[in-house]
Amino acid sequence: MMDIRKKESHMEQKDQLLHITLMDGMVRGLLLTATRTVAEAAAIHLTSPVATAALGRTLMGAAMMGAMLKADQASVTVTIDGGGPLGRIVCVADRDSVRGCVDVPKLEMPLKPNGKLDVGRAVGHEGRMSVVRDMGMKSPYVGQVPLVSGEIAEDFANYYVVSEQTPTLQSLGVLVSGEVVLSAGGVLLQPMPGCTDEIISQLELRSPLMADVSRELCHEPMEALMTKWFDGLRPAVLARTPLCYRCNCSRSRMEKALIAMGREELGRMIQDEQDGAELTCHFCKKTERFTQQDLLRLLNQAQA
Ligand SMILES: [Zn+2]
Repeated sequence: MMDIRKKESHMEQKDQLLHITLMDGMVRGLLLTATRTVAEAAAIHLTSPVATAALGRTLMGAAMMGAMLKADQASVTVTIDGGGPLGRIVCVADRDSVRGCVDVPKLEMPLKPNGKLDVGRAVGHEGRMSVVRDMGMKSPYVGQVPLVSGEIAEDFANYYVVSEQTPTLQSLGVLVSGEVVLSAGGVLLQPMPGCTDEIISQLELRSPLMADVSRELCHEPMEALMTKWFDGLRPAVLARTPLCYRCNCSRSRMEKALIAMGREELGRMIQDEQDGAELTCHFCKKTERFTQQDLLRLLNQAQA
C-alpha cells in the first residue's frame, strides 16, 4: 500500500502532534512533525548545524511535554545545562507552541566518527536538566535530574523515569544539510498502568525503527510511519494539535522585567545608558527601545 502512495507534498505538511494510543490505551504516545518549527528557530538564532540539532531536539521534547499539559494557560520551561561548549538551552512550550534559545548558537564541532552531529559533546553531560511546569497556579512544579548523555532524547526519557516514575521511550531527531533543516520529528511512548510485559518488549524491540525519525520523515509522512512502526499494535490517533514557533513577549512584559531588576540596578542602568536602553527578547530577537524617560517612569514603580 505504501509503495503506491505518491511521495508528494508531505514535506510541506504543517507541523503537528498526533496524540496516539496503542493496544486500546495500554500505551499512550505522541508523534511529532516539527520541521518548520525547528527551521524557524534556526533562522531566528542563526544556529550552526550542531546547535540547530541540540536546540531543535530540546524544542521538540519541550513541545511534547507542553502537549501533555492539561490547562490552557499552562506552560513548561525546560532548561538543559550540561556544562559543554554550547552553554545552556532554554525552551518554553505550551499546548500548541514552543520557543527557545541557546547560549552559543554558532558553535562548530567536529562530527562524530559515524558522521553524525556530536550533540552530546556540544551539550555536555556533567550538568542537569530542569523542568518547571507553570499550571497557572501559585507555585510552579519544579523537577530536576542529572543529564545522562546530553543527546537530549535520552535525557528527556530519563527525566520521565526518574522524576515522574513513568517509563518512557523517546526519540528526537533533526536532519540538517548545512544551514537547511531538512526534517525534524519525535516520538514518545509511555506504557500505562496495566500494560503487559509482552507489549513493553514489543516496543523495545521496535525502538530501533524509530531511532532515526528525522530521516524516516524525509521519505514518509508521520501517519504512514505510525502504521509501519506499530503494525499489529492497533495504533489509533486520538487527536491532532498544531505546533508552531511562537513567542509571547511584549513591551509590557519587558517593562515588568525592568521593574523587577529593582531600584538600584535600574538606577545604575539609567545613569550608564544616557540614550535609554534597547532590550532584545532571547527567544524571538524582537527589540524594544526604552528612552531615559521610559526608564525613569519604571524606576518609580520599582522596589528598593
Ligand atoms: Zn520574544
